[in-house]
Amino acid sequence: MRRSSFDDILPIMSYKLTVGLEVHAELKTKTKMFCNSANDPFNAEPNVNICPVCMAHPGTLPVINKQAVHHVLRVGTALGSDLADFTEFDRKNYFYPDIPKGYQISQYKYPLVSNGMLNGIAIERVHLEEDTASSSHEGSEGSLVDYNRAGVPLMELVTKPVIHTAEEAGAFARELQLLLRTLGVSNANMEKGEMRVEANISISKTDKLGTKVEVKNLNSFRSVERAIVYEVERMTKILDGGPGEIVQETRGWDEGGQKTFSQRKKESAHDYRYFPDPDLPKLKISEIPEFSNEKLKATMPELPWEKRARLVREYGVKTENAEVFVADKILGRLFEDAVNAIDGDRPSVALIENYITSDFVGLMKSSGSIGGVTGKSLADLVTMIKAGDLSSRGAKDTLAIMYAEGGDPRAIAEKNNLIQKNDVEALKKMVAEIISANPTVVADYKSGKVALLQFFIGQGMKASKGSGNPAMFKTLFEEGLK
Ligand code: MN
Repeated sequence: MRRSSFDDILPIMSYKLTVGLEVHAELKTKTKMFCNSANDPFNAEPNVNICPVCMAHPGTLPVINKQAVHHVLRVGTALGSDLADFTEFDRKNYFYPDIPKGYQISQYKYPLVSNGMLNGIAIERVHLEEDTASSSHEGSEGSLVDYNRAGVPLMELVTKPVIHTAEEAGAFARELQLLLRTLGVSNANMEKGEMRVEANISISKTDKLGTKVEVKNLNSFRSVERAIVYEVERMTKILDGGPGEIVQETRGWDEGGQKTFSQRKKESAHDYRYFPDPDLPKLKISEIPEFSNEKLKATMPELPWEKRARLVREYGVKTENAEVFVADKILGRLFEDAVNAIDGDRPSVALIENYITSDFVGLMKSSGSIGGVTGKSLADLVTMIKAGDLSSRGAKDTLAIMYAEGGDPRAIAEKNNLIQKNDVEALKKMVAEIISANPTVVADYKSGKVALLQFFIGQGMKASKGSGNPAMFKTLFEEGLK
């Protein structure tokens, strides 16, 4: 059965859900993790970013990518984690064509990063490894392997099993994506597989954890949440006496069917025969000057949670809008540019906030760009509204033209006759004309249907093509209809 939301299963959750997440993210570096091949896994031409090292030719030796180590240490710094002083790389042995060496270089006993916290979720570790080739089994040519991705630096983050709802898991993954992008260490696009989430899921009635399954191929935040909900339902049915039993296994997520399916019985760590890679040097982080805590801290940009707090504290931005400005870099930049242009005057800031999150988001929908609008021109627009030079209707139209063509709002409003008419004589003339053209409505109004005042104001706005000041129209009609 397809579910539109996970809320509807909450009432039947009679077991405690426990989830731990494992997140892999491809790191942005110039070259691969252990060789000089370009880190460009999405090259349209398969098998061009390869060399004897990542193709495992005999006699070749890996060299550690310093930038990749730096990226992971910066992630650890942002998470408030413990950064390893001693670290080494291990061989994780398995046989499959996506890993030509017969093992993946990973980290086992000494991860680069341990502990830390994100979005209230405790982190177990973050380590560095290499990505595998991408294989496809769909074409008529049989199975194909593209080694452009083999050896791309890959970060693996593991949370502690402390997540208890599907929403928490989704929120964690979203916040991690935002962090990786803010740090510039990964594009972290889930649809492209640059960030891949696996969920270890179990349910239990006691404090002892139940048998867990690991769900893979979750390529959107939504799938993460849905897969967890699906597993809760499936496991609950089994534990409540339904047929079958829960076995420790790896399950895949079927996006079309919105369900998980058994893939293979889960192997445990000893199946991989981990051992330190003798081809790589051990690292003593404190001996590498640019990896000192101070140096790493100096590379920290404003982190998402810091930015949220600052927008609320400094400008009184509403919490939900602070979220928008942090999640959408373009909108966040526009907001701050506009606010700087008006020197942070609070009432104007609120107006800027509103225009960006309503009208402007609407304009941006089709193109995704900010068009011809700049922080300065948006600030000027808001200043005109506050001065009474533009009605909200006029401001909407001016903004649309600014967006499409760029330019100064005053010049645009003047050229298009959108400057609000505060000229009492001109408005009075319109009011008189409207009153004489609508004798029946006037009679109704005078007989007590005072709500009809809105009709008259509307007619006034129409006659002035949106440029009349509605507050002035209100006063003038009230007088004229006495
Ligand atoms: Mn891994």
